[in-house]
Amino acid sequence: MPVIELSARRSPRAARRTLSGWGRTAPSSCTVFEAQSAEDVLDLLDRERAPGAGVIARGAGRSYGDAAQSGGGEVIDMTALDRIVSVDEQSMLITAQAGATIAQLMARLAAQGLGLPVVPGTRHVTLAGAIASDIHGKNHHRDGAFARHVHSLRLCTPADGLLDLSPHFDPDLFYATLGGMGLTGVVLEATLRVERLRSPWVSADIDRTAGLAGTLELMSGEERHRYSVAWLDLLAGGRSMGRAIVSRADPLADPPPKQPLPRRLSRSARPPSLTGGPLLTVPRGCPDVLHPATMRAFNALRWRISPRRERERPQAMAPYFFPLDALGEWSRLYGPRGLIQYQLVIPAGRESALEASFEVIRRRRLPVYLAVFKRFGAAFGGPLSFPIEGWTLAIDMPAGAPGLAAALEELDLLVAGCGGRVYLSKDARMRRELLAEMYPRLGELAAVRERVDPDGVLGSDLSRRLRIDGAPA
Ligand SMILES: Cc1cc2nc3c(=O)[nH]c(=O)nc-3n(C[C@H](O)[C@H](O)[C@H](O)COP(=O)(O)OP(=O)(O)OC[C@H]3O[C@@H](n4cnc5c(N)ncnc54)[C@H](O)[C@@H]3O)c2cc1C
Repeated sequence: MPVIELSARRSPRAARRTLSGWGRTAPSSCTVFEAQSAEDVLDLLDRERAPGAGVIARGAGRSYGDAAQSGGGEVIDMTALDRIVSVDEQSMLITAQAGATIAQLMARLAAQGLGLPVVPGTRHVTLAGAIASDIHGKNHHRDGAFARHVHSLRLCTPADGLLDLSPHFDPDLFYATLGGMGLTGVVLEATLRVERLRSPWVSADIDRTAGLAGTLELMSGEERHRYSVAWLDLLAGGRSMGRAIVSRADPLADPPPKQPLPRRLSRSARPPSLTGGPLLTVPRGCPDVLHPATMRAFNALRWRISPRRERERPQAMAPYFFPLDALGEWSRLYGPRGLIQYQLVIPAGRESALEASFEVIRRRRLPVYLAVFKRFGAAFGGPLSFPIEGWTLAIDMPAGAPGLAAALEELDLLVAGCGGRVYLSKDARMRRELLAEMYPRLGELAAVRERVDPDGVLGSDLSRRLRIDGAPA
């Protein structure tokens, strides 16, 4: 296993800051260091500190919960290390530093007719954040999650310093880092496999379904489309429960589709930029402008006005993959108490549990403003990687909604009971007792951590709250 030695060390800049995730629900006060080099990271992991204080890496802070903060401890802000090191068209690989964003990577690759195989619902996350959460896109059923496309990475660990990892060099540590929530070390750089970009457009087939059976039928089986996602109207009950607008899409190929591109999307037109800013930004201190009744009506209306069936709708890639990026700081719309995004996955074959979870949401009258539903293919990443084969539902709700805690607890139990799990990158509230049931491979993570972090230097609010390494809180 190659161990890289570095010499000169100096102290990076530090500041005391209150940090939270995108949902703004669980802030904590942390000492934040801005890493400018690998030496900075080595230096920070090497310091004497009070036991249990915990050091954790942070990317763009786009995880919703408390994964990228460490109250009373230290946070290594990796966003300044954002250089794209190389693009190798021969080997179809891109190498970049941890803090490079998905937007940066996509823009650089697009210039060479290349693209990323998996992207999340926002392009503002960092490369290392995407690796640490093993993020998924709308194509998990076909292409797996981010981890499947990581060729190799450079990791800084408390016990062993800098290590170059791949499936051939320390595979246990390599795989544990994919989806490892920053708990195996600090990723400094990674190399990803890339693909040819057929065009900066996709062609989408849209269907409006009348209930869950129709939604599942469209999204299961031999799905021929590469991307597939559904927006559910969770207000509807009875036989309409699970009705949705299902969008299934493919990269728009040459030759052009049957239906000619509208003038505004013609091939000579420039697609919306992958790095461009939002169209509008929600101001700081925005009052709580969304209300359950209006959002319920909006969701029902959205379903009603959607076409029953539309084929080959051309859409530019950026708004198709990242619709929420058009509105900067949109989480402020949820007011000062923030929002909770709860994401579950129910294993394939346990669709009755899926129906039961919809029923809990309806019975508890959860104010779900947005409900996104996707299909997952086979699991791949490390012990904390979220995707397993089945169905995933992400619901956005105002954090201050009455009865929310009890309702989510009921959902947690239902999900754990059927072999499913909750996405840790979105969580800031789950009870630790359910973790081992949801993530049964925790022992593998503990073994790796015992080796690379025997003194428990690495830790976050998430890892302490859930006792991810089994240590007492
Ligand atoms: C609008 C929106 C849409 C989203 N859509 C999706 C989606 O479709 N699919 C999906 O899977 N997720 C989605 N997410 C969640 C998001 O992609 C993940 O939480 C991602 O990890 C955020 O990356 P980040 O750079 O902001 O990391 P942070 O939030 O800063 O950190 C996330 C985790 O990564 C770790 N980490 C960060 N940098 C490093 C490093 N250098 N070394 C080691 N560990 C590190 C942190 O310790 C933490 O555990 C979405 C989030 C938002 C806000």
